[in-house]
Amino acid sequence: MAELPESGTSSLRYGRYLACGAAIGLLAALLAEAPIEPLVPDSLLRTILSELSVDNSIQQTAAIASHTRYPNSQGFLDAAEYVVARAREYGLQNVRIERFPQPAPLWDQVEAQLSVVAPVEQPIPTVLAEHSADADLTAQLVESSGGDLRGKVVLTDREPEEAWRALDTRGPAAIISAASGEFFGRRTPSDAILWSSVGRSQAGLMISPHSGDELRALIKRGPVTVRVHAKAKRVMPGAIGMVTGEIPGAQSGQDIVLAAHLDHQFPGANDNASGSGTLLELARTVNRLIASNRIPKPRRTLRFWWTTEIAAEQAYFREHPEEAKKILLSIVLDQAGGARNAENNLVIIYNPDWLPSYADDLIWNLAEFVKGRYAPAEHEPDRLLIAPGGGHQSLRTVYWEYQPITDEVAFEARGIGIPGIALAVPSLDLIHTNLDTVDRLDPTWMKRTALLTLAPAWFVANAGPREARAVLEYTFQRAASRLAMSGDPIRDLPRERQRLDSVRTLDPQLNTQPYKDRLETVAQAVRKPN
Ligand SMILES: [Zn+2]
Repeated sequence: MAELPESGTSSLRYGRYLACGAAIGLLAALLAEAPIEPLVPDSLLRTILSELSVDNSIQQTAAIASHTRYPNSQGFLDAAEYVVARAREYGLQNVRIERFPQPAPLWDQVEAQLSVVAPVEQPIPTVLAEHSADADLTAQLVESSGGDLRGKVVLTDREPEEAWRALDTRGPAAIISAASGEFFGRRTPSDAILWSSVGRSQAGLMISPHSGDELRALIKRGPVTVRVHAKAKRVMPGAIGMVTGEIPGAQSGQDIVLAAHLDHQFPGANDNASGSGTLLELARTVNRLIASNRIPKPRRTLRFWWTTEIAAEQAYFREHPEEAKKILLSIVLDQAGGARNAENNLVIIYNPDWLPSYADDLIWNLAEFVKGRYAPAEHEPDRLLIAPGGGHQSLRTVYWEYQPITDEVAFEARGIGIPGIALAVPSLDLIHTNLDTVDRLDPTWMKRTALLTLAPAWFVANAGPREARAVLEYTFQRAASRLAMSGDPIRDLPRERQRLDSVRTLDPQLNTQPYKDRLETVAQAVRKPN
């Protein structure tokens, strides 16, 4: 997947405008390099920041990250019980765990031990591959190139499931995988143990690539004997789960969902205990602000979902298809904290082609306003956008075209059709490894993602005719700008017109027709002559 360039104005884009005289009168305002006028009021941002506690976000993140949270595991359900208790304490209503039965039992690691017993005694740090079968044996350690593998323990760089597929008929007793991960071209470090899985009848243990190199060096010198002890707990019935709770609005059936996936390997701090812990703090923040009369009760209901990534929402919408029609917008936070002392980016993933939405323009406006006002590249960020102990980076924003990589997949699916805002501050070097730890999170980014998750949720939850009108005006400007940059504005016109209509979910009385007509004029004016 390719990263899109950083947002901003380009001379190319405006040069194109200047070339088409017919559109100039209509679009003159777009040419001005004016500071971004925020759709979400600055006063709301400051009100949120006056209550938001990054310390609590991190505390909740740490509590969640203390559980190993594989999908369909007791560890996940334990973390879910923790979230339920906090969510109730923070004033969410109708808090419960939705369970979706699975044919396979809950699976949790009990013991994982690997040690060299000859030629030298040496323990090797290891975790079970998810779903590993039990094993308790002492045997020769060989590489997969060795001929007869019966009863032997095989060392491989491949992921264990793939290795088992290739070697199963040769009868190994267990597979030790020193695989590394690769995410968007970045390799996980050599001392990181990767999260991977095997079939339930296969014994598999994960070690770091560094440990793999050490073992391989030993094998080169002579026979190596290892002791393997793998033990898991399996409990029927299996279930994946999701915690739900809400802050009821004055009207129901036009709800906003804030979602973060609660599942993953241990400790899964940035991915995604951080998003889950942040959601708890946002629940606390909103209820505290309401209780102290700093904000009113919301017009629309805010729902909070702590999910088993993608799968729980898919199961939920299968069981309750009517619920999808009651949700206006989803806001997904997946990786809230980035990595300390790293070059972090706020990644915003746009809606898919089949679901053009004002939400892309709303979050662009918000993120670019906050960046320009509080944390631009040119100077030290305002202290409002820095947390104690956190980095002082500017708020770098990156916008990705739709990628089916997090919970938004379930909301934005065809047939569900809930538009979304998906936010992430990824730590791609550490993702899905045992090094994704709480101490590596950057409190500054935890603060920023919390703000940028709650602010659009609150804005949309309370949007009335005036806000809808402002969103429509703004979406029109951005749509016209996109058409001007497009290689084929006539092709893109229907999608941009649909995007304008999407604003009517905020106010069904809104007349979008004049804007759609003007967009047509723009498309005709900027299209290439045949
Ligand atoms: Zn994630």
